[in-house]
Amino acid sequence: MPRTGFIYHSDFLKHDTGPSHPERPERLSYLWDQINSDVISSQLSFPKPEPIHPRWLTKIHSAEYVENVKAACGRGEIIYLDGDTPVSKDSFEVALLAAGAVHTAIDKIMEGELGNCFCAVRPPGHHAERDHAMGFCLFNNVALGAVYLLEEYKLNRVAIVDWDVHHGNGTQNAFYESDRVYYISLHQYPYYPGSGSYNQRGSRKGEGYTLNIPLSPGCDDSDYDLAFDKEIIPSLDDYKPEFILISAGFDAHRGDPLASMKLSDDAYFRFTQELKRIAEKYGKGRVVSVLEGGYDLGALVSSVKAHLRGLIESS
Ligand SMILES: [Zn+2]
Repeated sequence: MPRTGFIYHSDFLKHDTGPSHPERPERLSYLWDQINSDVISSQLSFPKPEPIHPRWLTKIHSAEYVENVKAACGRGEIIYLDGDTPVSKDSFEVALLAAGAVHTAIDKIMEGELGNCFCAVRPPGHHAERDHAMGFCLFNNVALGAVYLLEEYKLNRVAIVDWDVHHGNGTQNAFYESDRVYYISLHQYPYYPGSGSYNQRGSRKGEGYTLNIPLSPGCDDSDYDLAFDKEIIPSLDDYKPEFILISAGFDAHRGDPLASMKLSDDAYFRFTQELKRIAEKYGKGRVVSVLEGGYDLGALVSSVKAHLRGLIESS
């Protein structure tokens, strides 16, 4: 049985963001069609995601916020929770399934059924804060995965590498004072959401366990490769993560319409292989990646395929 998982569910398409929103159901329906009809599918396992147990949501989000999202969806029409984050009738349940997919992936890996896994989910998560929705994100899928690893599986060193072109403010804030989660982000800067300067490095026990790598618009493979070689890989070698989570947005691709970076498909293969090598050294190869952004359908598919090859092929 293939050791790399790919988690998808057609219910992810039920999060209706209305006409002309960039974070639209077609991102996943097209990705699924293209992966499913590609030879790569024979090298993947397809576990079925379960919704997250609600008790986990309040480890990262306030109970009041969770209720607010549920109530907004209950109104049955498209409502904006912030300037660019809509919800519709089914969005609450879909968001529970997106976060739950990460828990399903973690369980399959910790039980030895899979080696690593990609979660093709929506809505995305890394901008979601403790008490408010932000930047297309409702619940912070990757942060909910990290807290599950800490509390359910008693791990003590979890790394989150966020290569989405935007800074993952919600994830950074969730673990800013913790040394049990090392948050690393590369992102276009200055850019939405505005956070992620180099001097945001964590505080109290978490000081030194946040690494921001702000990059000017127009950076390409060589700039990112340099950041991996000089900063990310050495710092992960010091940290020795027991598990690596990836906030895998593909909006730093040169074909993406929202941002201004110039990455090729192959960049995502290399990043994946480098992180896999770290995971094999210190964490039994355990990697779960979670889809964040990526808004050009063609670029999203080619980037995800390169990322999957990185997960499948030995590093
Ligand atoms: Zn993004």
